[in-house]
Amino acid sequence: MSGALKAYVVQDESDAHAEVVFARLNAAARRIGANKLDSDFHSVTCRRAPEFDHCSPGPVPFTTLFEYGWWRECDGCGVRIEDGAYDDDGNVIDFDIVEEAAAVYCTPACRVRHVAEHARVKRAEVRAIKVMQARLLREHPGVTVIGGDEAGRYTRPNAYVSRDKAGRLRIRQVVVHFDFPGRRHGFGSFRAERDQSHLDRKPALFVPFGDKRAFEAWRKAGSLRLTALQRLLLAAWVGMGEEFGCLTFNAIARRSGVDRRLVRRGIRALARKGVTEYHRGLWTDEGEPAGSGYGLTPLGWAALDLQQITAEQGDSSC
Ligand SMILES: [Zn+2]
Repeated sequence: MSGALKAYVVQDESDAHAEVVFARLNAAARRIGANKLDSDFHSVTCRRAPEFDHCSPGPVPFTTLFEYGWWRECDGCGVRIEDGAYDDDGNVIDFDIVEEAAAVYCTPACRVRHVAEHARVKRAEVRAIKVMQARLLREHPGVTVIGGDEAGRYTRPNAYVSRDKAGRLRIRQVVVHFDFPGRRHGFGSFRAERDQSHLDRKPALFVPFGDKRAFEAWRKAGSLRLTALQRLLLAAWVGMGEEFGCLTFNAIARRSGVDRRLVRRGIRALARKGVTEYHRGLWTDEGEPAGSGYGLTPLGWAALDLQQITAEQGDSSC
């Protein structure tokens, strides 16, 4: 049925931009055209344009529009491609228009320059992303870089490179994303941006608010490798405060359900990993001397925190 569509020229009255629209009726063309021009029905004019009927259902190539006196800017150099236009020296420009998908170039040479420049910028952006991902892994070993297939629209690595006034390629912004053990909400991001003069020397790291605790615990304790016995022993401190968190071997055995002989060996192994530390001269809540015992170091508390977060996730996923 497209053969029945007729060409109309819809023009914005305020800025003279125009579109050729194909429709059966003037009112429909006017509505479609106003939309394309980001204008509204009453701010545009609409007239029949039988000279473009042969291009139904559109779009009309620019070379055809050009023959009828239309103009537009070159996608390469920005020059106004208009019949009879003059260059800076006052000579009539001899356009050799190249159309490629929606892009229009003034000459083949301009297209070649534009495509080459686009490729140079693209390469610089890919390089910027690689450098940033390597830096993320160096500064936060153990995270998983997100890129490729698992990256959604908002977590794709992204860089924006453009030339400065002196013509040098400059990274304006680069953002890469990462995953880490214990994460439940969105991916983390690692980003650097350029203010007037230079790119952030220290990229900013973001994790979603709900994952901050998990990230901190993982960063501190994520590289610890604990055995099943050591994890059981660590759980003896669940529910204790950091200030009064000292336990005797007996208390640890009771709270963890682990045999006392294994407790002694396991706790000493944890101490060697920097998870527990020995305290002497302990007192009970009633003020009675209670001998000596073990407490958790800050690393130990982080490890316990991480262990609980991971366990909660295990629970909620089944
Ligand atoms: Zn050009």
